[in-house]
Amino acid sequence: MSQLAKENNAINLSQGFPDFSPDEKLKSILAKSAYEAIHQYFPMPGYAPLLDKIAALTFDSYQRKADPHSEILITAGATEGIFAAIQALVSKNDEVIILDPAYDCYDAPVLLCNAKPVHIPLQNDFMPDWEAIGKAMNSKTRMIITNNPHNPSGRIWKETDFIQLELLLDLYPDVFVLSDEVYEYIAFENPHISIHQRPKLLERSISISSFGKSFHITGWKIGYLIAPEIIMREIKKVHQYLVFSVNSIAQYAINDYLDIVNVKDLSAFYQHKRNFFRHLMQQTKFELLPCEGSFFQLASYASFSYENDMDFTKRLVRDFGVAAIPLSPFYADNKDLKCIRFCFAKQEDTLSEAVNRLVQL
Ligand code: PMP
Repeated sequence: MSQLAKENNAINLSQGFPDFSPDEKLKSILAKSAYEAIHQYFPMPGYAPLLDKIAALTFDSYQRKADPHSEILITAGATEGIFAAIQALVSKNDEVIILDPAYDCYDAPVLLCNAKPVHIPLQNDFMPDWEAIGKAMNSKTRMIITNNPHNPSGRIWKETDFIQLELLLDLYPDVFVLSDEVYEYIAFENPHISIHQRPKLLERSISISSFGKSFHITGWKIGYLIAPEIIMREIKKVHQYLVFSVNSIAQYAINDYLDIVNVKDLSAFYQHKRNFFRHLMQQTKFELLPCEGSFFQLASYASFSYENDMDFTKRLVRDFGVAAIPLSPFYADNKDLKCIRFCFAKQEDTLSEAVNRLVQL
């Protein structure tokens, strides 16, 4: 879609990345970092002061005590963390539960293990269907992948969802939870509940975070995992041969930036953008679905077009100059809900201009 947007000179609300600059303070820290003696390999798990700061941040945010030296791993973006965790923990013929619509980087690593992705649709409101998940689990289930706040729907889990997960996993002591929380600091009316706050799940969980999402630096490709040492030891064996250690300059700069940034400001920043975009979108024919977190807004066009979502988004780019993402590729069976995803991590001018075009529909 980003490629199509370029070809058609369209406004790109498709791929999930900001079109604004990261914090000037982060940029000047980065510039200064270039003159420090940090250009050679950092240790495999990550730069020790950064690991300490992640432990402090995790404690501050969720009151979870993670040991910085044995339970945290800096990764080349959340993507590498997800890949390494799946490769380390899933074996041939295992089954991995994936809740659809799902972000696209879960399936391939499962298939590369010669394991089986088991896709369970979320309910119509994009919340987990615990009955269906329970029915899909069996002695081959090795992992369930969760994503909260959720891409693409922007829904966030309630405490009852965690309780249901805990009850279910009581029956399956060998199942891991891979908890993709890259939008953890982007939650609006209701607070984000992290896996870190669920003591019953901690000993079997791997949490995934992304500095790319939290600091508007998706291109830096840097994130981290937190897991109990016994699990982390296995994940590090994969990470060792996948990237060995993550780029030193990003680690060094983020370590300094963590002294001055407050991640808790991020929700208000994006809530303002969400409200701005939703308000403008009321002038269009789209029906907006609830958005509780992340920087994605789902919009239904079912009331005014029968086109499938691939054709609809292509027409939107070509004829109206706005790129969005169809929802069907997020489903293993390409279910077409006549719904598309807009990314509102954009400047207000970009969002206004996009809506001016969408009003023409
Ligand atoms: N998980 C989800 C749900 C995402 O939306 C993304 C990025 N779009 C990622 C993981 C990957 O994050 P990163 O860029 O840090 O690899």
